[in-house]
Amino acid sequence: MHRGTCTKLVATIGPGSSSPEILGKMLEEGVDVCRINCSHADHATIKKIIDEVRRLNHRLGLHVPILADLQGPKIRIGDLPGASLLLEEGQILVLTTRSVDAEPGSITINYEHFARDVKPGHKVLLDDGKIALKVEETDGQENVRLRVLNGGLLLPRKGVNLPDTHVSIPALTPKDLADLEFVLQQDVEWIGLSFVRSASDVLELKHLIRKYQKTSRVVAKIEKPEALYDLDNIIEEADAVMVARGDLGVELPLEQLPLLQKKIVRKCLEKARPVIIATQMMESMIQNPTPTRAEVNDAANSILDGADAVMLSAETSTGKYPVEVVRTIKRIIQHIEKHHIPTEASPSLSLSEGVPPERRISEYICRNACMLANEAEASAIVAMTGSGYSAIRISSFRPRCPVFAFTPNRSIINALNLVWGIRPALYEKFVSTDHTIADVKLWLKKNNYVKPGDLVVHVASIPMEERGMSNMIKMSYI
Ligand code: PEP
Repeated sequence: MHRGTCTKLVATIGPGSSSPEILGKMLEEGVDVCRINCSHADHATIKKIIDEVRRLNHRLGLHVPILADLQGPKIRIGDLPGASLLLEEGQILVLTTRSVDAEPGSITINYEHFARDVKPGHKVLLDDGKIALKVEETDGQENVRLRVLNGGLLLPRKGVNLPDTHVSIPALTPKDLADLEFVLQQDVEWIGLSFVRSASDVLELKHLIRKYQKTSRVVAKIEKPEALYDLDNIIEEADAVMVARGDLGVELPLEQLPLLQKKIVRKCLEKARPVIIATQMMESMIQNPTPTRAEVNDAANSILDGADAVMLSAETSTGKYPVEVVRTIKRIIQHIEKHHIPTEASPSLSLSEGVPPERRISEYICRNACMLANEAEASAIVAMTGSGYSAIRISSFRPRCPVFAFTPNRSIINALNLVWGIRPALYEKFVSTDHTIADVKLWLKKNNYVKPGDLVVHVASIPMEERGMSNMIKMSYI
């Protein structure tokens, strides 16, 4: 039988994993999505990774999509007067938008309206929150006086987080726009939008993708407290969501992360939006061949929370053990899934209010296909899908078997590989429903996904040539 997992694995590809040999091994070990962080890769490098993943897809018969993650409005300090600067508690410091190469006590910041946007009392966090400052005074134009709350050794060009400030930088910086144009030319399946503040940031990116006449889907990264005020609308507008725990854990008190993760997953499942849990999943494996017990628990609990995918960042991009970490986290996923523990986050199988009339039939069909499959202990649910929506909706109920998404729409096949339980495949014939069902069953058997005597639940829209929303369920034996 095929050993793919329902919970998917996103792996960031970087210098430690971009060679054809390592990448090939990682995909063979079960990476479902390759992420490229545009903050750290130039266009030539991005292209090389994309080409290699596509070559491997072809060679291994996989559908691994690319998630190109845009840097977004990342704020950084500039160079320092020396190689580093020791900041001590109580010390006064000036952050300025002027260029101050070697002015003692002043550091530049790359955020044009910093002095205008911050207010006295706002917190300014440097280097992933390791150093904390408080705004004492701003001249509203270019200089901000701050007091050091938590000191430490500051290195040049470190990141800045402003948890209290409404940051007025556009959602897409000039670098993002250049990266976006490039990755759209490569037809990447997913685009990550960093530091999303509201649904309008997502809409702006989607508008640009449409303008380029591309079909890439948007992952909204939740990493700012501001995003939490517009969470429902962000989830509604995005095609998928990432709980970006790295920056989120800097901008919010850390103890809030576990419940927030559960809340975001629950909301995403209710709206059938795939959700990725990211950052520090197997952090110690950047250096070591085995994870800590706490990391194993974190990965397992993210799966139990109901995430569509868990993500590796530096573990695979620059870490020493990119293949081993993939193998380790896949083993954790396999073990948890073997025990079929249902997630508490999956939406109720009874129809909720608020489903618009035009969606009600397909909603009933998707829900009841899952109930049937669970009750009959079916081996597969097969969704014939045009936009991918039915397959994603079925997946969001977290049935106890994989969901095979057969689609004629080439632009969504790989994208669907990110979604919990979905095994995507191309199906371009429109002969008849009976013919399609027979064809698909043969394919499932030939590819070792099912065996004679297994039950399969089929979901489709009839008549097929109208390509409407799902309105049919059929059960059959292999
Ligand atoms: C994060 O902050 O958790 C995250 C995924 O963002 P980045 O792109 O900075 O890794």
